[in-house]
Amino acid sequence: MPHTERLIPKTKNPPAKVKDPGVIRLVMEGRGVYNAKSDELLLLPEGAALFRDVSEGLKQQFFLRAGAQAVDCLGSDAAIRSIAERFIREYGDAALSFQEERGRRLHLTGWSATQEDAREKVNRLKEGLLPAMAGCGIPLCFMESLSPCGSLYTIGGVQTESAVFDGEEGFACPQCGFGAFADSPAPFKGVQPGEGEELQPLKDIETPGANTIADLCRQLDITPDRTLKAMLYISEGEPKRIIAVFIRGDRAISLVKVGHYLSTECGITSFRRATEQELKEHLGEVAGYCGPVGMPSSVLLLCDESVQGAKKTVVGANRPGYHRTGCCFERDFTAPLADLAQWEEGAPCLNCQTPVKSVIWRKIAHFEIPQHAADPAERLAFRDRDGSKEFPFRWSGWVDITNILLSSS
Ligand SMILES: [Zn+2]
Repeated sequence: MPHTERLIPKTKNPPAKVKDPGVIRLVMEGRGVYNAKSDELLLLPEGAALFRDVSEGLKQQFFLRAGAQAVDCLGSDAAIRSIAERFIREYGDAALSFQEERGRRLHLTGWSATQEDAREKVNRLKEGLLPAMAGCGIPLCFMESLSPCGSLYTIGGVQTESAVFDGEEGFACPQCGFGAFADSPAPFKGVQPGEGEELQPLKDIETPGANTIADLCRQLDITPDRTLKAMLYISEGEPKRIIAVFIRGDRAISLVKVGHYLSTECGITSFRRATEQELKEHLGEVAGYCGPVGMPSSVLLLCDESVQGAKKTVVGANRPGYHRTGCCFERDFTAPLADLAQWEEGAPCLNCQTPVKSVIWRKIAHFEIPQHAADPAERLAFRDRDGSKEFPFRWSGWVDITNILLSSS
């Protein structure tokens, strides 16, 4: 074999039109080429060798140890499922975790008897991945999120100024590194204003033209956290039901979380914003002035956790041009509470209360645990200890090697 010189091109100028610092670095190091037309990162010999090292390291030292057995199923989900169909009755679910290299990603999947088990498996992978990434100089941050159909996501990301592949807008705490996406859990940890103040009876006041929180606050010279805002939806299918969701005026509602709550707690799988006409039919003239006190019993009332303990709050009076002051949760109205808020810039960090900032997260790992067990139609069933037939939960995920290369320093 003749000795050949390795292709490591020296590049003086960063690639045109690319802002992703990881791509720029890899190209400048002579490890890769960015093809803007096809939006592809091509790996040159040095990059390909690095790719192999990282991929083999993860596969052998990490995923195998975490119980994921390497298979080659031609990159097909259906093929992996056919393995489960053959063996799921015979083997305990510990033997049913698999890894497969597909292109530039390592795919992981497995079947677990319960959702709790699936979560534990994903947690084990997560906990192993953190030190593995720290070893490459990557400060991986894991964040939880929800999909509209109720699956739980665990996403591992790294902050970057720009990401060509799998970048997603989210939020990060500049103080402690905590991260979140818009629909990540946002348990309410704020302080309610009005604590210790003397309570007052409900009082209707005229607020002409104040049909937004901003206008209302301007008119009454109050801050948004002293108001409640309403979002009105209607369920599709019969019977149609108006759904009124209340949240503190300084927070925003996550449609994904509302959808998740409605499907898991109320059996409502489809809903949308109610039109003015529909509101008129069901509630009368309330648009812009809807409040939680005195709603008809046909309305499904829901509150974000930020409504709990609200005192002396301004709410809509359910008639045009009027609001109601002095409103207290539990004294004047009550409703089921749930985490229904969306993350926004400036919201307090869950660890240290510092306002979070908008950032781009480069996604390195992504795990998904479904809301429901496998469909009986998939013919996957096993007998549990007392002999009853159960359907397993399939969890799945991937780790993106390209994004690891782009993030390591
Ligand atoms: Zn923090």
